[in-house]
Amino acid sequence: MSTLFIADIHLGNEHPEISQRFVEFLQQQAVAAETVYILGDLFEVWIGDDAVQPEHQAAIKALKQLTDVGTPVYVMHGNRDFLLGQQFEKITGCQLISDPLLIDLYGTPTLLMHGDSLCTDDGEYMQMRQQLRSPQWQQQFLGASIEQRLQVAQQYRDESRSRSQNKSQQIMDVNTNAVIGSMRQHGVTQLIHGHTHRPAVHDLKIDAQAAQRIVLGDWYSQNSSLHCDKTGCRLSNLA
Ligand code: MN
Repeated sequence: MSTLFIADIHLGNEHPEISQRFVEFLQQQAVAAETVYILGDLFEVWIGDDAVQPEHQAAIKALKQLTDVGTPVYVMHGNRDFLLGQQFEKITGCQLISDPLLIDLYGTPTLLMHGDSLCTDDGEYMQMRQQLRSPQWQQQFLGASIEQRLQVAQQYRDESRSRSQNKSQQIMDVNTNAVIGSMRQHGVTQLIHGHTHRPAVHDLKIDAQAAQRIVLGDWYSQNSSLHCDKTGCRLSNLA
């Protein structure tokens, strides 16, 4: 038996082929797993549980089928779908988990994160993150009409895209001190996250102890997934 990790699927109307691949992945690979973790940005954008978009239906149905046969599916909020809520849990049978989350992965204490909170060099992003995660902003946003919410979400994505073009790759990557700080705080030597779309296994040292940071890739072109069992973890970039 194995535990599967994926992140940054970014389901949306711009790439219908990703939805197809995701449904196949759930039906063929995830169904054989003991547990499935989705570490953020399952959806390109999620404007509220009351506004499920047509392009999300196939994935929602496939997630429900998977949880119906008894496979636990845990979903973490990403920076695109941080508004996933209780109604999403109800229609999919998935369970939302906190970021960060500490788990016991076959005897190895492991920290799970989306990864955006580690990008502390990008001050502008961190400030925006704080705003979007505030109950006041969320209450106001969810109180707007679906049409208005779609417009605001589009605006945010356009702005983030144009801002990213002027930022270096380094600024948009995780900050090493933030990584080590989080791992030390939770007493782990293994961290799994997504967000940066740079799949890799990084070896590092924390207080002279060997540690690993495993980064999941995206699903635009990388089809990234991580399979872990009692013998270890394998990152695969072409599922
Ligand atoms: Mn992200």
